[in-house]
Amino acid sequence: MDNVIGILKQKNFVTKKKFGQNFITDTNLLNAIVADADISENDTVVEIGPGAGTLTRAIAAKAKRVVAFEIDESLSPVLKETLTGLDNVQVVFRDILKVKPCEIKEIVGESFKVVANLPYYITSPVLFYFLENDFPLVSLSVMVQKEVALRMIADSDTPDYGVLSLAVQSRADAVITRHVSRKMFYPEPNVDSAVVKLTLNEGVPYRKTFDKLVKAAFACRRKTLVNNLMQSMGLSRADSETLLTQAGLDIRIRGEALSKEHFLILSKILEEIKIK
Ligand code: SAM
Repeated sequence: MDNVIGILKQKNFVTKKKFGQNFITDTNLLNAIVADADISENDTVVEIGPGAGTLTRAIAAKAKRVVAFEIDESLSPVLKETLTGLDNVQVVFRDILKVKPCEIKEIVGESFKVVANLPYYITSPVLFYFLENDFPLVSLSVMVQKEVALRMIADSDTPDYGVLSLAVQSRADAVITRHVSRKMFYPEPNVDSAVVKLTLNEGVPYRKTFDKLVKAAFACRRKTLVNNLMQSMGLSRADSETLLTQAGLDIRIRGEALSKEHFLILSKILEEIKIK
C-alpha cells in the first residue's frame, strides 16, 4: 500500500479534515493493528471509515469477511482501485452513527469484531454506539487519540478517570496494545494515537441504574457524590447519605474515588431498596 498517496493524487482526492481523514499507509503498522485485534479466517469484521482502504486490505487478508462503513462517497474511486481483487469486502457508504443497530445486524448477519482507525471527531459516540447497543460483538480494536485511550483504561482516583472509563470497563476488558506516533499518518495530525483493544465481557448487572449513577457521579467532578446524587438523580440528602453508608462509603467521598465495584454495590442497593 506504499503507493496509496500516489493513488489519492491520481484520483484528485484531497483529504477532508471535517471527516477526520488521517490515513495510515505503513504496511508493517497496518499488519500489526490487525494482529493486535487477533483476526483470523473465521472472523467477520466491521470497519468504520476505510478511507483509502489500506487497513481494509490488511484486515481482508486475515478475515473471512469485512463490512466497512464510510461516510465520504467521494472515496469510491480510490477504494475501487485499492480494494481491487478482494471478494470478501463490502463497502457501505453511510454515516455509521445514522445506521440503526437493527440495520447493522441485518447487514452483518453474524457476530463480529470491530477494527478501526476511528475519525477522532466522533470517537466517543462511536464507542458508545457499539458498547450500548445489543450487538453480537466480540471485540473492538480501535485507534484513538492517545488522551482518549488513557481515559478508556484509567483507574479510579486518577485525572483521566470518568464516564468513558466506566462505560468501557463495565462492559469490556480494555488494554492499550500499541502507541502510534502522529508521524505515521497522512496528513499528519497534531496528536499522537494509541490502539485500544476492548474484549467484551458479560457486563454488569443493574445496567440502567449503574449508568445513571456513573453519569450523576461525574456530573460535577468537584462536588461530593452526595451532592451530585441530589442534583442529578433527585435523591434527598438523607437517602443519598444512607445509600453511601450502606455501601460502606464515607459520605464526603467524590465520584472519582469510586471503583467499578463500588458503583456496582451502589446500583444493587439502589435497585433493592428502590430509592430512585
Ligand atoms: N481506515 C483508514 C486508515 O486507517 O487509513 C482511514 C481512517 S481515517 C482516521 C477515518 C475515516 O472515517 C475516514 O475515511 C472518514 O471519511 C471516515 N468517517 C468519518 N466520519 C464517519 C462516519 N460518521 N461514518 C463512517 N465513516 C466516517
